[in-house]
Amino acid sequence: MPTTSANPLTPVIDRTTLRLPEGEYVNQTVPKDLIVLHYTAGSSARSVFNTWIGQGSGSVATAYVVDLDGTIYEFFPPGCWAYHLGMKERNPGWYHDRRSIGIEMVNVGPLRPDAERADQLNWWPNDYSTPYCLTSETDQYTRGVFRGCRYFANFPGAQFESVQSLVDHLCREYKIPRVLPPRARRDEYDARYFCGFQGIASHQNFRPDKFDVGPAWDWSRLGI
Ligand SMILES: [Zn+2]
Repeated sequence: MPTTSANPLTPVIDRTTLRLPEGEYVNQTVPKDLIVLHYTAGSSARSVFNTWIGQGSGSVATAYVVDLDGTIYEFFPPGCWAYHLGMKERNPGWYHDRRSIGIEMVNVGPLRPDAERADQLNWWPNDYSTPYCLTSETDQYTRGVFRGCRYFANFPGAQFESVQSLVDHLCREYKIPRVLPPRARRDEYDARYFCGFQGIASHQNFRPDKFDVGPAWDWSRLGI
């Protein structure tokens, strides 16, 4: 069952249902000055858990996964760390993985028009042949050119609300600056800049080949 709190500022966090055992993350407490938002390129928090469990040490994981219905799962204690950036340069001793708290949001990611049905958008399984929605279902996706893609699955309102409350909570708990990158930098890959950034950033800022969080993520919904 989710853990509830009497403090209305504290989000409801489920710390038991999808919990990685010790050994599936690095059980070492590190000061935090950065939150990195990701999305899963999948359809549920459970599928992320199933992918990550059993990797042993050297695990890829994030402390939090926020599901489509807004449920916040804590996968491991957020003061600890796991590999989540995949940066091979400018990351000595996995410095940026260690100093950051990763939040994965369940989202299928980029969409592409079906090869035979121009009114259908697909997501990535089986070479982008898996139906996601119709082009007429404009509440399901966002148009925008980003790293060669043009359509991106939307984030539900409940998910935005949960991520906002989780970010606020983590900024308070870990004294992470509650600031966003300058608007002009939010979509950019710029390792030199972001390696010195403290606050709330996203995976696309640290890797030129990543799509998360993309143009469907509305930064203004964080209320910062
Ligand atoms: Zn990512």
